[in-house]
Amino acid sequence: MTPQPIVQVLLPIAIDRPFDYAVPTGMEYAVGDLVEVPFRGKTTFGVVWGKEATDYCGKVKEVLRRLDSPPLSPENQKFVTWVARYTLTPIGMVLKMALPVALNPKTKARKILDIRLPNLDQREGLSLSGDQEAAAATIQKAIEEENFQPFLLDGVTGSGKTEVYLSAMEVALKKGRQVVVLLPEIALTAQWLNRFQRRFGVEPLQWHSGLSPALRQQTWVAILEGRTPVIVGARSALFLPYPNLGLIIVDEEHDPSYKQEEQVIYQARDMAVVRAKIGQMPIVLVSATPSLETITNVDQGRYQRLVLKSRHGGALMPRTQVIDMRHYPHNWISPPLQDAIAQGLQAKEQAMLFLNRRGYAPLTLCRGCGHRLMCPTCTSWLVEHKRSGRLQCHQCGYSLKLPPNCPECKAEGSFIACGPGVERIYEQITQTFPHARCEMLTSDMMSTPNQVHELIRRVTAHEVDIIIGTQVLAKGHHFPMMTLVGVVDADLGLSGGDLRACERTYQLLHQVSGRAGREQRPGRVMLQTFNPSHPVMVALASQDRDSFIEAEKIEREARLMPPFGRLGAVIISGTDRHHVEQVAKQLARSAPFHPDITVLGPVPAPLAQLRGRHRWRFLIKAAKSTSLQDLLARWVGGIKTLGNVRITVDIDPYSFL
Ligand code: ADP
Ligand code: ZN
Repeated sequence: MTPQPIVQVLLPIAIDRPFDYAVPTGMEYAVGDLVEVPFRGKTTFGVVWGKEATDYCGKVKEVLRRLDSPPLSPENQKFVTWVARYTLTPIGMVLKMALPVALNPKTKARKILDIRLPNLDQREGLSLSGDQEAAAATIQKAIEEENFQPFLLDGVTGSGKTEVYLSAMEVALKKGRQVVVLLPEIALTAQWLNRFQRRFGVEPLQWHSGLSPALRQQTWVAILEGRTPVIVGARSALFLPYPNLGLIIVDEEHDPSYKQEEQVIYQARDMAVVRAKIGQMPIVLVSATPSLETITNVDQGRYQRLVLKSRHGGALMPRTQVIDMRHYPHNWISPPLQDAIAQGLQAKEQAMLFLNRRGYAPLTLCRGCGHRLMCPTCTSWLVEHKRSGRLQCHQCGYSLKLPPNCPECKAEGSFIACGPGVERIYEQITQTFPHARCEMLTSDMMSTPNQVHELIRRVTAHEVDIIIGTQVLAKGHHFPMMTLVGVVDADLGLSGGDLRACERTYQLLHQVSGRAGREQRPGRVMLQTFNPSHPVMVALASQDRDSFIEAEKIEREARLMPPFGRLGAVIISGTDRHHVEQVAKQLARSAPFHPDITVLGPVPAPLAQLRGRHRWRFLIKAAKSTSLQDLLARWVGGIKTLGNVRITVDIDPYSFL
């Protein structure tokens, strides 16, 4: 009897290597095929990863069957391997992002999804401006040539960037290629979907965490079979097994939500560029406030910049006024901002107030003894939310009813709210302007996307006069009658040791400002700040993005910080404080010693406890040319952990908590 052939099968689990399986006699198979195999007493699905056996010499089990589906293409396999190596994640976990569905062929989810094809001859009746035309043509040429070419599509909000990439997409679709569009906040894509629908006559398929399991599986199968022309989705949509991808769009490329902080820790914008390179296709990064990383790539000639110079249809950029809050230390809404709101109401225009702080007040304490309520499992104070009548931990979501007595001094009803959160601003505005139609939109409402869509629709239709909200208001919306944007606390993001604090604050405030005056009526932005001379405020007021970026660049370059140097973080966490500390110290003793790298730490993390796990951190700073991954893999790989202590590596960290 001839020995059975052996194959390597990669399984979507947190293990860094494929397993050997024997192929049943007569079964045809190729690398990339999806197969069902027995694993740890169950059956599971995996991908044939190679045809040679590994050096495993135990007893091998047999492949149960080969799925009747297209294979995972070599391009997608290569991408999975690349991301695993770059992020130092077990390759099975990355594969899981490409196979994020329960592949049970017996369920009715196998039903075929009815996909309507975009109408490529329909015209909305708009003709592109000269700048738009030139940008679209350049991208279209790269699509035709099937070249890897990264573009930065750079233009102020409302300059018509979306129109440009929709137009470029058409060429990819005509060639029968798949297109993926990544957006930062999928729950807010109603306006984007409408736009697409108007242009192409159909809705594109979506990919996000809110899909039902059945729809998820149907969509995934359709993608693998190459039947989906366009997928619009959150960052995870990048990893789906497109066999025929021809164009990638990353809208709002600077958005911090492209960084995934759990499971596989990756920056989707950066990985999208890698995906485009592996598949030899153009990629368009879109932003009015591009990240310093992307700008540096343009400066160094790796990306091509396409610029739209002005707002479409000649709408002016809003006038920005900095309000020095040192003159009004006792107000949350300064008199000038209040007057501007009143004027706007008179003129039947809309206003938006922005405060990136959820809840009623950032701080709740006992008037009697000063006691503050803390989350039992995180290093984090509890924040009062009046709407739900509860105190909430913003780290882990733990909540409790505001206790009637202080747990410390037992005083009754002694808790007082300090400082404003968005709910408190809302309360104050409804009192100041009792006749105005006020609404509030916060990220707490994101779990009910329909409610959010309905509210956005009402604001767009001018059924709301004043909208008050957090970050979710900043993104992408087009409200024709919105002429005033008030930023309640422009300084909010500036404190803390985050390397990108200024850049992010600038981006966020610029984006919020862009909601004002998008059509005929001129817009006005008021920034309330205690630091009117801060470079971020100066840049926003003078609308001088490029000088601001230049100053940021010089500073980062001087400190050899990204994108001029590399960073990696190592986080040690576990439920036993002593174990965590011991592992951290053990790591410290074997820390790499290399002229091009600096190891900072270990120190207890600023967020010293999260969901009951104690946390310590290292930060590793390295020259651009060092192979940070190899170094980290050798270092961290050589450590035996204790108890449930986990060592997490974060390449290119965005969070330093
Ligand atoms: P951005 O993506 O840069 O914020 P958009 O593409 O959303 O800008 O364009 C802003 C507004 O201008 C939208 O309402 C859009 O429909 C309109 N618009 C853009 N380009 C054109 C054009 N060439 N002709 C007519 N309207 C346009
Ligand atoms: Zn907590």
